[in-house]
Amino acid sequence: MQRSGEFEIIERFFTRPVTDPAIEVGVGDDAAVVDVAGRLAIAVDTIVAGTHFPEPMPARAIGHRVLAVNLSDLAALGSRPRWATLALSLPASDMVWVEEFAAGFFALADQHGVSLIGGDTVRGPLAATVQVMGDVGDAPLLRSAGRVGDLVFVSGSLGDSAAGLARAGGEAELNSPEAEALIERFRYPEPRVDLGLALGGIARAAIDISDGLVVDLGRICAQSRCGAEIGLDSLPLSAALRAEFSGDQATELALHGGDDYELCFTAAPADAAAIEDLAARVGIPVTQIGRLIEGSGVAGSSGGKRFDLVPAGFGHFET
Ligand code: ADP
Ligand code: MG
Repeated sequence: MQRSGEFEIIERFFTRPVTDPAIEVGVGDDAAVVDVAGRLAIAVDTIVAGTHFPEPMPARAIGHRVLAVNLSDLAALGSRPRWATLALSLPASDMVWVEEFAAGFFALADQHGVSLIGGDTVRGPLAATVQVMGDVGDAPLLRSAGRVGDLVFVSGSLGDSAAGLARAGGEAELNSPEAEALIERFRYPEPRVDLGLALGGIARAAIDISDGLVVDLGRICAQSRCGAEIGLDSLPLSAALRAEFSGDQATELALHGGDDYELCFTAAPADAAAIEDLAARVGIPVTQIGRLIEGSGVAGSSGGKRFDLVPAGFGHFET
């Protein structure tokens, strides 16, 4: 990208007044400087056109999404997000596109008190990388902290995003209001930041569901050296999902669909009431879907029958 174009993009769209006193140097110098008081949680995620979203996704949604997936990782650790850096690769210096991208990015950043402190802007295939940094206490919610006997919970509803992605490929004018709601869920995932913070010190293991419930709960199981059993009839399904898909399809989407960015976490049975209280306090519904058990892998149960659930999520390097 031409020097002038790059400079103008940074100046116009990514330089904002600094409001966080911990930021000593923000956008505009060789590197950012922040005054870190304690422990820092750091996460980075890239989204690439064609791989993570079907190409004609609105720029605003891409700006939202690249930050949302990162905030979701911090949420799953119980960290309070503070700062972000952004590396943007653009095929052309399309100012309208960048303005929309920045609007989506900053709307979510402002909602969670996150400051953009630096980045890089280059010409190339459409891709965006965000790194987020956040405060974390002395009890981060690790994938490895689950114990046999823990209850397994998920936030919100499952399967909506994958359902929306399936509908987004179709003719827009054929879509019902329910399908539109599902597409919106895919485009604008809401990271469960407040829930993750509230779970600190109460929940044991946690993960955000990016690749599907079975895959991601399977990661808790693998790292906590145990198995899990979930009740397929307990999965939280939205009204929109149930309106658009048959019962079996909805269950499949909830088990294996990615991109929901809900939290899946475990807690001791004695803490079930505390979990309910904090969910009500932060205003995010939480559903108990199963338990951690001896063994390995994720099993499902329905109508008195029990069966193994085979991970079927998305993998970049799987053939
Ligand atoms: P350098 O050549 O030293 O890497 P750059 O021209 O890449 O400098 O960046 C200049 C300044 O603008 C740096 O402070 C950098 O962090 C910031 N910056 C560049 N691109 C972005 C972006 N997309 N978002 C936020 N800050 C950016
Ligand atoms: Mg640079």
